[in-house]
Amino acid sequence: MFWSGELIARTAPIRHRPPAERSPLAERAVAAYVGLAIGDALGATVEFMTPREIRAQYGTHTEISGGGWLRLKAGQVTDDTTMALALGEAILARGHVDAQAAAEAFDAWMRGKPVDIGNTVRRNLVTFRKTGQPEAPASEHDAGNGAAMRVLPVALACHGQPPDATAAASRAQAHVTHNNALSDAACETLIFMVQDFLAGKDALTVEAERVIPLVERFPVFAWDQKPRENPSGFVVETLQAVFQSFFATESFEDCLIDVVNRGGDADTTGAIAGMLAGARYGLADIPRRWLRGVDELTRVRCEKQAEALIALSS
Ligand code: MN
Ligand code: MN
Repeated sequence: MFWSGELIARTAPIRHRPPAERSPLAERAVAAYVGLAIGDALGATVEFMTPREIRAQYGTHTEISGGGWLRLKAGQVTDDTTMALALGEAILARGHVDAQAAAEAFDAWMRGKPVDIGNTVRRNLVTFRKTGQPEAPASEHDAGNGAAMRVLPVALACHGQPPDATAAASRAQAHVTHNNALSDAACETLIFMVQDFLAGKDALTVEAERVIPLVERFPVFAWDQKPRENPSGFVVETLQAVFQSFFATESFEDCLIDVVNRGGDADTTGAIAGMLAGARYGLADIPRRWLRGVDELTRVRCEKQAEALIALSS
């Protein structure tokens, strides 16, 4: 009997540490990372659909069901999550955010034939292969959301660092593929917002200290009452849709359902909103069915990487 008990213990799946053993900070970091993956998996089903098409097919889209134009398995994530994971691994390997390491990690990620890849990401990674130069040339056209969707590992690794160092790290990762002022502003804003929520700030304060100054610096980010539907891959439209949903709702679930049902680049708005909402509300507010519904290997990778990046920051 002793023997069989030992066998069971040895062959049982390795369980990650229960939430009780995580610090409150690590717990929020995990929620942000799992939130990113959940938003990606939820939104991918309706990516590039219009709200009207979504209503006709799903009523309201609320379940992680796969499908979509990428014909995903239920729970499968896309480039938004997998590029973040590739970046996070490069940061952990170096012990800090490094442009060259990030570029090599993204290049290796592209060689792995990802399920989706943005045009700007592909073009500038192909250029990196030729030149070895990890900073893409500045371009006013490269204002897609491809750098903003993968900022989370930088936010976690730089938590508690001076703002200047954090902003430099943000540009180092972003400029591998997107060297653009609007993208930079979006990336920094998202990073500081995540860090504020990890530090326990409330949404009103974060809006006043991060979002209003963004709009003052770059008025193009301003939004009005009219719902931003069908947000394109343009980082300004992405953030407008995310901010409208994020500041008009009061739970992780309501925020994500609101944003993905706007359609358009829904996996990316879902991923960014999921990251912010995870950091804001914590793991306990994420619906169980979504935690179970997202691909398990991906979820565990996100959890472990979030814990490691937070450990690196302190
Ligand atoms: Mn994607
Ligand atoms: Mn997308």
